[in-house]
Amino acid sequence: MPGKEPPPLLHMMQRLIAEPSVSSVSPAWDQPNVRVIDLLAEWLQGMGFEVRKLAVPDHPGKFNLIASLGSGPDGLVLSGHTDTVPFDESRWRSDPFTLTKKDNRLYGLGSTDMKGFFALVLEALRGLDLSPLKHPLVILATADEESSMSGARALAESGQSLGRHAVIGEPTGLRPIRMHKGIAMECIRITGRSGHSSNPALGNNALEGMNLVLTEIMQWRQELGERYTNPLFEVAVPTVNLGHIHGGDNPNRICGQCELHIDIRPLPGMNLENLRGELDMRLARVLQSTGLELERQSMFGGVPALETPASAEIVHTAEQLSGYAAEAVAFGTEGPFLQQMGMDTVILGPGSIDQAHQPDEFMSMDQIRPGIAIIQQLIQRFCLT
Ligand SMILES: [Zn+2]
Repeated sequence: MPGKEPPPLLHMMQRLIAEPSVSSVSPAWDQPNVRVIDLLAEWLQGMGFEVRKLAVPDHPGKFNLIASLGSGPDGLVLSGHTDTVPFDESRWRSDPFTLTKKDNRLYGLGSTDMKGFFALVLEALRGLDLSPLKHPLVILATADEESSMSGARALAESGQSLGRHAVIGEPTGLRPIRMHKGIAMECIRITGRSGHSSNPALGNNALEGMNLVLTEIMQWRQELGERYTNPLFEVAVPTVNLGHIHGGDNPNRICGQCELHIDIRPLPGMNLENLRGELDMRLARVLQSTGLELERQSMFGGVPALETPASAEIVHTAEQLSGYAAEAVAFGTEGPFLQQMGMDTVILGPGSIDQAHQPDEFMSMDQIRPGIAIIQQLIQRFCLT
């Protein structure tokens, strides 16, 4: 299928936003992203890119897109995700799937997080002469960033190499980010034996075991904070949040089972697998003589922390082009997966993270021109000279 020349900027944004592509761990919300991928594929093909549409294994209807111009070991990857978060229509003042221009803002689900970025990239490409390309340029569009990160995870597992330098256009107000914390969510389940409350010997109380677990986790959190600290982060220590608990059924029954969900946010340099192993060891130790059964499951694969060295060329360039020193942020991205594929990765994109995941999400129109200019200069620097 030959591609078509992309339509004007705001039409592109409108078309991308009009295709619903919610991703969610809740099956009731989760949608395919294939129509967004197909649109981008058509436009990029129309601009001479070679496009590959890759199905994400075990996730029907979910695709990644790799569009490349030129080949070689070096080069620049401009990356974004095609999915959006779920939305609460009753809290939107306009239709989330219609790009609505008002007060110098472009409203729509995904306008800033982050379908708008792709429209800006295409607009930036239209304004460049790419015929003297010296290093490859890759536009990467992923699936499921907002839920399981299955798209980026599958790419990292495929072991292919896409380029040396990467920019992920998540909304950062066009300021470069080179560090973020990781995320793990763990489910801890304790199983004992229920029985009548009048005689403790009739059962084995899972809630009492959970009490030991909670105390141990808070102690562990304290120790992690003493072992690891990074002043570049607003919250300088790793965090462990006790987020959800459920156990037992009645005051007059011994609690037979209790389940706890926690969220762990490690700093760069902390390894998710090692943390899980440490947690397992500590919890097994405190429950050792209780006779209670302990299980721990990761609620998703987790996202490692990201740290791209301050000395990386992409960091320097992004700092120079944006006029800001690279920072550390609290949200996770697909950056660690791109890093696993050998790319030095910076997060830098138009729009504000404050508007992401909110009703009436918008991209401020004053981000458009500077956003396009930075994208063009990145391509100039890494692919044309
Ligand atoms: Zn995003």
